[in-house]
Amino acid sequence: MKAAVYKGIRDVGIREKDMPTIQHPDDVIIRVQRTSICGSDLYIYRGDLHETMGPGESGLGHEMVGTVVEVGPSVTRYRVGDRITAAYSVSCGSCPSCRLGMTAHCETTNKAVYGFGRAFGNLEGAQAEYLRIPHAEAHTERVPETISDDQAIFLSCNLPAAITGVENAQIQLGDYVGVVGLGTTGQLALRLAANRGAARLFALDRVPARLAKAAQVGAQTIPVSDPNCVEQVWELTAGHGLDVVIEAAGQRDAFDLALQLLRPGGTYSGLGVYVGGGHPLNIGDVFLRDLRIFTYGFDNTRGHMWPAIRLIERGVIDPATLITHRFTLDQIADAYRLFDQAEDGVIKVAVHPPGGNHR
Ligand SMILES: [Zn+2]
Ligand SMILES: [Zn+2]
Repeated sequence: MKAAVYKGIRDVGIREKDMPTIQHPDDVIIRVQRTSICGSDLYIYRGDLHETMGPGESGLGHEMVGTVVEVGPSVTRYRVGDRITAAYSVSCGSCPSCRLGMTAHCETTNKAVYGFGRAFGNLEGAQAEYLRIPHAEAHTERVPETISDDQAIFLSCNLPAAITGVENAQIQLGDYVGVVGLGTTGQLALRLAANRGAARLFALDRVPARLAKAAQVGAQTIPVSDPNCVEQVWELTAGHGLDVVIEAAGQRDAFDLALQLLRPGGTYSGLGVYVGGGHPLNIGDVFLRDLRIFTYGFDNTRGHMWPAIRLIERGVIDPATLITHRFTLDQIADAYRLFDQAEDGVIKVAVHPPGGNHR
């Protein structure tokens, strides 16, 4: 079968791999119907995890919808032909961390993530024709008929993460809410914040097309390339500042920017992915302004897949509207290149493996 692999820094490609097989009684094998590239895949692409990726070997991708083609003997919930999606992180459902809802911190799988190399369980990735799903009943959902493949790929990661960000933000009716970083998860968080009763939305990013997409839902857009972007927000809020900022950029300057926009007692809700250490936090400022800081970039997606399904099914949010580009699996190198460069107004890239019953 064909699978995308990490070959080196800014170098991905397709290679032939053996078909996955059932290795444990609770595994299932899926034929991947659709997959996608996530902002967090760019950390791998740009070499931030180079030391723990096997060049030419390590699979890529953690967002998927697929059809079950084989089930392990202890799996009772699924049958061949079922259409399912899995959380990006593999959780067992029964260890202490899983029982606390901290499924990304599963002690059984030791923080395993699909397509994230040796540091995260050395699992194959979803950007492939087939994928083995370990602990299959613990971190998957059956996808209802009413949800398309395009919508279902957002159930692995982006939409549950956006729900996490909005819930941590504890948005109150009438709040002024900012979203810094308008990639897929930021766009979804912006839309959920509007639903949650925010009186005013501010959207900050450097990419004009992403700002334009945010303007479609009524957000006041502010390019972060403007050196006065912080002052602008304070002026537009009559010196009040923002009650809540959701940060979905995963850049250290975006973290700093988010804190600068908050009023005293304001809430920072972080969804961005950070790897490595070494960033100064002005703890005196955080203290004197009574800021509340929540970080949840290593999102415990499992618990928010079910509400995410409901939100899509009932039409509260349609994440598929954020798909701007499509590539076949064979074109994976082009897909990563475009996404990395944020070219051509790209927000979400869908990837179509060959064959299958796409819908
Ligand atoms: Zn993702
Ligand atoms: Zn567990």
